[in-house]
Amino acid sequence: MPRLDGKVAIVTGAARGMGEVEARLFAEEGATVVLCDVSDGDGKRVAEDIVAHGGTAEYLHLNVTDEDNWREVIGCTVAGHGRLDILVNNAGISGYDEEDNLGTSTWDRLLEINAKGVFLGMKHAIGVMEQGDGGSIVNISSISGIVGQDFIHMGYNASKGAVRLMTKSAAVRWAEARIRVNSVHPGLMPPMAGGSASSETRDAMTANIPMKRTGRREEVAYAVLFLASDEASYITGAELVVDGGFTAQ
Ligand code: NAD
Repeated sequence: MPRLDGKVAIVTGAARGMGEVEARLFAEEGATVVLCDVSDGDGKRVAEDIVAHGGTAEYLHLNVTDEDNWREVIGCTVAGHGRLDILVNNAGISGYDEEDNLGTSTWDRLLEINAKGVFLGMKHAIGVMEQGDGGSIVNISSISGIVGQDFIHMGYNASKGAVRLMTKSAAVRWAEARIRVNSVHPGLMPPMAGGSASSETRDAMTANIPMKRTGRREEVAYAVLFLASDEASYITGAELVVDGGFTAQ
């Protein structure tokens, strides 16, 4: 049986990158997937392609910083599909592309999208999951939520650290309501849309990864799939690193 048979899932930031791969994998595993992003053209194309390959998916515009937009998306999902079982809070922006690594407006943007966006998603999904059969929330943090780096904006580390701990907070608070909340911490992956560290920095970081290579998006998507599925039924408040051993050192 497919691993997400009968489940309804929302994936944010699903128009490209890891969110796209997670959405495609979820659909292959039998979920009805609601793909959300601010990049509407790409998001619609991915959803249409999933449907063309036999999956069940739709695209909805969602800016994760907009609380009314969250209400709308969760409302449409429940109205259209009857339930919400899984939320993957994947949307995020990178801390690499700013010339000013101490910019205050960059701090605000990083915290707004990467941290507040996850808080709003949990707040509104939990409201619906509590009324149903519970659910599973997977929040995408990073190795940058566990250790510091000297080459990115400290707001990125702060935002991903916030995701790590708000995950545990929600996990203990809603465990009895049968809502599991876990975080996934990718290591060095293909660059984000907003920019990446220089190739010299990426090479130096790769040399310091025990597996001596960057990660593949699928390798993160399978970790997210596991936590989202009922296979992880006794796992909540956990942090799953997918980093080739980087944080084990
Ligand atoms: P990406 O840049 O390829 O994709 C991010 C997606 O999020 C894009 O489609 C973008 O349009 C969307 N997005 C941005 N702001 C949004 C908003 N306000 N509302 C809704 N959608 C928005 O990034 P990725 O590499 O796939 O990263 C996905 C997640 O994984 C992010 O949270 C990122 O911080 C995290 N992560 C990435 C890496 C990496 O090296 N790529 C490593 C660790 C963690």
